[in-house]
Amino acid sequence: MKQEGTNRAGQTVSTGTGKGRLLIFSAPSGSGKSTIVQYLMREHPEFNLKFSISATSRPPRGTEQNGVEYFFLSPDEFRQKIEAGEFLEYEEVYQDRFYGTLKCQVEQQLDAGQNVVFDVDVKGGCNIKQYYGERAMSIFIQPPSVDELRCRLVHRATDDAQQIECRLAKAEQELSYAPCFDKILVNDDLEVAKAEAVSLLQEFLGR
Ligand code: ADP
Ligand code: 5GP
Repeated sequence: MKQEGTNRAGQTVSTGTGKGRLLIFSAPSGSGKSTIVQYLMREHPEFNLKFSISATSRPPRGTEQNGVEYFFLSPDEFRQKIEAGEFLEYEEVYQDRFYGTLKCQVEQQLDAGQNVVFDVDVKGGCNIKQYYGERAMSIFIQPPSVDELRCRLVHRATDDAQQIECRLAKAEQELSYAPCFDKILVNDDLEVAKAEAVSLLQEFLGR
């Protein structure tokens, strides 16, 4: 069956014929998106989840590998793909740090009947939801407070002090996007949040 969505210009567009659905996770950095997404993918094979590998112009962090967590591109390579129209959406999430979802990645996975999981910033999350409509469920992961975000980012120890401040400076504005999402998942007690994520997916994918 042909399916349709709405692009950023409000036009109706075909979104392919695949049976897969989209699960979009967004939140300020440090809220626990990756922790919850990795848990779902590792412990719940019955959901048939496939992670959408984004492209980014930031350098790899820690043990990150090209083609696993991200496709790592130079800023120039990223700009060339923007020019070529290869992105479903992209954002300059932090200054000179581009992140984007490649159209070909998503369509291939959906066509294969996989349920595609996105870990994207709040604007990207809203754009993907708008594009795919009822085929997508968007989930905002809400941290208990900005102070707790700071603690988690410091404890995660993957960013230097300046990068942590840059991420926190954006958090207040990002938190204001919560009402634009289909569901808000509070991540205070991690075990409670994981269980809630499982029920949200069961309900959405079981429809
Ligand atoms: P994000 O992907 O949203 O940037 P992460 O999943 O990397 O966030 O989580 C940030 C840090 O907080 C990690 O070190 C993670 O282990 C920790 N964390 C995640 N959820 C919780 C929680 N509920 N309570 C305490 N620490 C948490
Ligand atoms: P990080 O540098 O911590 O991996 O990611 C920083 C932010 O970029 C996070 O909020 C993450 O969700 C977001 N992000 C990752 N990939 C994409 C993408 O393809 N598109 C958009 N819009 N944001 C993304």
